[in-house]
Amino acid sequence: MSAILLDGLAVSKVVREGLKVRVDQLRAAGVQPRLDVIVASQDPSSMAYVRMKRRWAEQIGITGEAFSMDDSTTQEQLIARVVVLNHDPHVHGVLIQHPLPRHLDEAEALQVLNAAKDVDGLTPASMGLLLSDMPGFRPATPLGIMTLLRHYGITVEGKRAVVIGRSIILGKPTALLLMQQNATVTIAHSKTVDLPSLCREADILVAAVGRPEFVRGDWIKPGAIVIDAGYNKVPGRDKDVGDVHFGEAAEVASYLTPVPGGVGPMTVASLLANVVDAAERTVADLGTPDR
Ligand code: NAP
Repeated sequence: MSAILLDGLAVSKVVREGLKVRVDQLRAAGVQPRLDVIVASQDPSSMAYVRMKRRWAEQIGITGEAFSMDDSTTQEQLIARVVVLNHDPHVHGVLIQHPLPRHLDEAEALQVLNAAKDVDGLTPASMGLLLSDMPGFRPATPLGIMTLLRHYGITVEGKRAVVIGRSIILGKPTALLLMQQNATVTIAHSKTVDLPSLCREADILVAAVGRPEFVRGDWIKPGAIVIDAGYNKVPGRDKDVGDVHFGEAAEVASYLTPVPGGVGPMTVASLLANVVDAAERTVADLGTPDR
C-alpha cells in the first residue's frame, strides 16, 4: 500500500476536543448547547447513528432529546414537533435523521425547520445559502470531507475534482464546497457515460454512490486523492465497506479515506461543530442569557 490514510477518527477527535473547550465556555456563560433529533424508531441503522451521535455529543457536553416517529405518527404530528423545536429557545440544533418512516413527508418537515437550527444544513434555505456562497450551516458529511482535506494540508484550489453522486445530502453540496475552494468540479451520476475515463481525470475523486467497492483501482489517476464517502453493508461480510475498492485504491492513490474510520466520524464531528456554532450565535444575537 502506498496511499496515506486520511484518518477521520483521529481528526474528528481533534475537532471534538476543540468543541469541548467552546462548549465549556458556553456553559460557563449559562448556555447549555442542545441538539434534538427526530428519528424513525423502527429503523435500526438510524437508531444506531443517533445513539453514536448522542454519545459523542454527551462526551463534549451537548445535551438533547430524541423524538421517535413510527408508523402511527401523522404528518401533522411531525410538523407540530418541528414547530415546537423551532420555538424552543433551549434547543440550538435540530436533526431530522433520514430516513423517516415512508408515509411521512421529510421534505415538508425540512421546509418548516428554522434554518438557524438546521445543523444538518439540509433545509432549502440552507441549500440556498450554500449555493449563494453565503454563511449558513453546511451539510455535515460534505463539511466533514472539507475539514479532513484541510487538516491534512491538501490544497483544493486548481485541482480537477470529480464527485460521483448528486444527492442533496452528499454529492451536490460536496461539489459546491470544492468549487468554492476553486477546484474545477465535475459531478457524475448514474447516466454518466464512461465513468472510469472521467474518474481517471480527477486529482480529487469523491465517491458518494452507495455501491460497495464500485470504484476500482484502474479508475484512479496515480497520485489522486480519493475520498470514499460510501458506507455499505454487504451480506456475509462482518465489516461495512465503502464505495471504493480499498485494496486497489491504496496502491494508486496518494491519499485515501478508510471505511470505517474516514468520512463517517468527520460527519458526526461536523454536525456537532454546527450545533456549537448555533449555540454561540444565540449568545451573539441575544447577549448573555441572564441579561
Ligand atoms: P443516494 O441518494 O442514493 O445517491 C447516490 C448517487 O449515486 C446518485 O446521484 C446516483 O445517481 C449515483 N449513482 C448510483 N449508481 C451509479 C452508477 N452506477 N454510476 C454513477 N453514479 C451512480 O446516496 P447518498 O445518500 O448520497 O449516499 C451515498 C453513499 O454515501 C452511501 O453509501 C451512503 O451510505 C453514504 N453516506 C455516508 C455518510 C457518512 O457519514 N459517511 C453520510 C451519508 C451517506 P442518480 O442521481 O443518477 O440516481
